[in-house]
Amino acid sequence: MTDLAEFARAKGIKYFMISYTDLFGGQRAKLVPAPAIADMAKDGAGFAGFATWLDLTPAHPDMLAVPDPSSVIQLPWKRDVAWVASNCVMSGNGPLEQAPRNVLTRLIGEAAEMGLEIKTGVEPEFFLLTPEGTEISDPSDTAVKPCYDQQAVMRRYDVIAEICDYMLELGWEPYQNDHEDANGQFEMNWKYDGALATADKHSFFKFMTRSIAEKHGLRATFMPKPIMGLTGNGCHAHISVWTKDGKNAFADDSKELSLSEDGRHFLGGIMAHASALAAITNPTVNSYKRINAPRTVSGATWAPNTVTWTGNNRTHMVRVPGPGRFELRLPDGAVNPYLLQAVIIAAGLRGLRSKADPGRRWDIDMYAEGHTVTDAPKLPLNLLDAIRAYDEDEGLKSAMGEAFSAAYVKLKTQEWNAYSAHLSQWERDNTLDI
Ligand code: ADP
Ligand code: MG
Ligand code: MG
Repeated sequence: MTDLAEFARAKGIKYFMISYTDLFGGQRAKLVPAPAIADMAKDGAGFAGFATWLDLTPAHPDMLAVPDPSSVIQLPWKRDVAWVASNCVMSGNGPLEQAPRNVLTRLIGEAAEMGLEIKTGVEPEFFLLTPEGTEISDPSDTAVKPCYDQQAVMRRYDVIAEICDYMLELGWEPYQNDHEDANGQFEMNWKYDGALATADKHSFFKFMTRSIAEKHGLRATFMPKPIMGLTGNGCHAHISVWTKDGKNAFADDSKELSLSEDGRHFLGGIMAHASALAAITNPTVNSYKRINAPRTVSGATWAPNTVTWTGNNRTHMVRVPGPGRFELRLPDGAVNPYLLQAVIIAAGLRGLRSKADPGRRWDIDMYAEGHTVTDAPKLPLNLLDAIRAYDEDEGLKSAMGEAFSAAYVKLKTQEWNAYSAHLSQWERDNTLDI
């Protein structure tokens, strides 16, 4: 276990960012000078919980963010500073149950009790926009099919290579960077890891990408659909489950698609809870402009609209790209990194325990032939649909934790109500003269 005071001495750290993630995925931090870190490492940094999205009141006692030293990272672009993920604890009252990193840690513990470790990789796509966030930053990036555009990715070499160099330095084993399917959109991939490590890296990746983009006079966004008509920002998750002796419990060459019985049951849990878990994987009003979207300029949205699974075919909600893992293509760039991992484990473990069947495998082009699938549920059409599906799914709610689920449904319903209360130009255009 890393001693943070020792880490500060060894690396020349002047400040620690003691950081936690709230229910809406916001990263919150205090900057703590190195001479104060020994006490903070023990007792945590104090926060007024009500001031962030945690479903606390102004009358609650202080919430303490206790750093997890195993997550500490020296900022490669600002070496005086180190970032450390922390766990939320209520003063004198134990862990704050609904805090996302706590929800995930508890579920990882449940998997460990079953002798299992969940390993995942994420693919957080992002756009590089102008600082106001309204337009893509490269006016020459106009191809109709811009995916893997060699010329366009090299015009952003300075940003992409800087981020990738840092991932190399941090030992994340990055292995590819590309221009994605929308103008102005990019993806960078690094190696999968245990679910908590992936959630911490995913959080740090968002922070790092935004910071480096800002440094270059740009704005990085993970918003699910920042530009109508173009492909949105997905955040696919690849999932495998391993036994204590280091065996991939999803791999079985004798089975269909080399997916073991346990792999099918875990997948069965994801399929059974898909409509409800969309409230977590697609957590914003804007998320529903990415899934269920009409065809984009490039020819395909690459996002799902129905609860179906398949082999190596990118038009479905779940793809089994090769032996020993599957890919959940539902999550988008707005997903909370901790809740993403948590809801995968919650649904997957329920599937394992109940020996859930994932149902029929569809080997069709969902975009062209989706209308032929009549017996699979459609994904929620908007955030309210998803919140209601979550609220009705007692199994998933209890697996995610009652305190978390109550807080999440309450805050997300408030968000939906705030959205509904705003008067849009579309309404004026379509209603003024009625
Ligand atoms: P694609 O674009 O084809 O979906 P990427 O290469 O962009 O795939 O991303 C694949 C992700 O899956 C990476 O994060 C990779 O490390 C991860 N991955 C590969 N094998 C496994 C596995 N066995 N378990 C979990 N994640 C995996
Ligand atoms: Mg990818
Ligand atoms: Mg993918």
